[in-house]
Amino acid sequence: MLEVAAAADTVRALWPLRVTLLDPARPVVVTVDDDTARTGTTDSLTPGRAVPGGTYNWFVPTGTTAVMSGRWNDQVRLQLSRSAVAWVNAADVVPLPEGTPPPGGAVGSVRLTPESGSVVLRVPLPALVPYQVTEDEHSVTLRLYGVASDVNWMQYGGTDPLVRRMSYAQPAADELTITLELAPRVWGYRVRFDGRDLLLEIRRPPALDAEHPVRGRVVVLDPGHPPLGATGPTGLREPVATLAVALKAKTLLERAGAQVLLTRTDSFPMELFPRTRFAEQHGADVLVSIHANAFPDGVNPFTNNGTSVYYFQPRSADLARALDRALIAELGLRDLGMGRGDYALARPTWMPAALTEAAFIMIPEQEALLASEDGQWKYARGVAAGIEAFLRERAQQ
Ligand SMILES: [Zn+2]
Repeated sequence: MLEVAAAADTVRALWPLRVTLLDPARPVVVTVDDDTARTGTTDSLTPGRAVPGGTYNWFVPTGTTAVMSGRWNDQVRLQLSRSAVAWVNAADVVPLPEGTPPPGGAVGSVRLTPESGSVVLRVPLPALVPYQVTEDEHSVTLRLYGVASDVNWMQYGGTDPLVRRMSYAQPAADELTITLELAPRVWGYRVRFDGRDLLLEIRRPPALDAEHPVRGRVVVLDPGHPPLGATGPTGLREPVATLAVALKAKTLLERAGAQVLLTRTDSFPMELFPRTRFAEQHGADVLVSIHANAFPDGVNPFTNNGTSVYYFQPRSADLARALDRALIAELGLRDLGMGRGDYALARPTWMPAALTEAAFIMIPEQEALLASEDGQWKYARGVAAGIEAFLRERAQQ
C-alpha cells in the first residue's frame, strides 16, 4: 500500500502503480479527445469519473480543454474548478503546448431560440470549458466549470411556453450554473459546441393522447447483442431471444399505432454507440433495450433470479417502473426491482430510455420461456404494455 498526501489530497493504492505529481505552478492544459486512435467510431464523449476507473459522472465532448492536475496509472485527473475534479482515461487527453493558459473567463449574455421540435439555448464561452448537465422533473441545469458570470441578459427570443423561466447562479467563484425551468416534464436534451458557443437543446415533449398514448409515437426497440451476450444451458443465445422478443413487441406496438424501429433486424454484430445514435437520428420518443440476464454483479442467479429493469437519466425512472410492473404481470417471475445502471443504452439524453432484463437465460425454466413462442410473446406484451403505461402517465401530467 502506498499513500501520497499533498495538501488536502490523499491517494491510497496497491502496487503496482505509477504516480506523477504535477507542479501546480505550471499547469498542464489538455484537450479531451475520445478518439486519439482515429477509429471514427466513437461517440465523441469521454466519460469523467469521481474516482479513477469509477462509474460515469461527466460526459466530456471532444475538443474540451481543461487543466490536468494528477495522474494515477492509466487515469488522469482533470481539475474542472478549484473544488471539482474528474478522472478520465489518459489515452483520451492530448497535452497542449507548454505555457498554454488554463481555460476560463467570463460567460456573457445567453439567448433562447425556439425551433419546431425544441428550444436552443446559446451560451457564449471564453473557451471550450468542461460542463455538466443535470435534470430535475421540470428543470435542466447546465453547470460550467472554470468560468464566472457576466450574464447581463437572458433573452427568451419570444414567449415560447416550453421554458417558463431562466436563471443563473454562481455557486463558486469558478462555477456558473444556468437553469431552465420547463412547463412540462423533461423529455430530453442534448448539447453541442458551435464554434466557441455551447448549444443546449431542450426537446419539446410529444403531444400525447391519454386515450391512445402510443398512437403516432416513434418507438425504437434495441434487441441486445451481438457482439457478446449470454448463452443458456441448452444453448439458447441471448441475441436470438432478444431479436425474437423485439419483433413481437414491434407487432404489438404497431397495432396500437406506433411507428416502431429496431436497431438491428439480423444477426450481424452492432456496437453500442450506433444503436443510441440510431435512436436519436430517428427521433425516438422512447428507447427500450431488450436483454436476458445471466450473471449480474453480486447476485447468485440460482438463488436470486427474476425480472429487473434499468434506467440512467432521472426522467426514465418512470419508464423503468412501468416496464418492470408490466413484465412482472406478464411473466410472473420474481421482481428483482428497478435500478439505476450505467448502461450505454440507458444513457441517451434525448429521450426516455430503459433496459429490460426480464428473465435469466442461465436458469433452465427461464431459458425455456425465452426460447418459446409463448414466452417471447409474454416478454413482448410486457414491453409494449410498459411503454404504453409510461406514455399514458405522461399524457395525464
Ligand atoms: Zn445482455
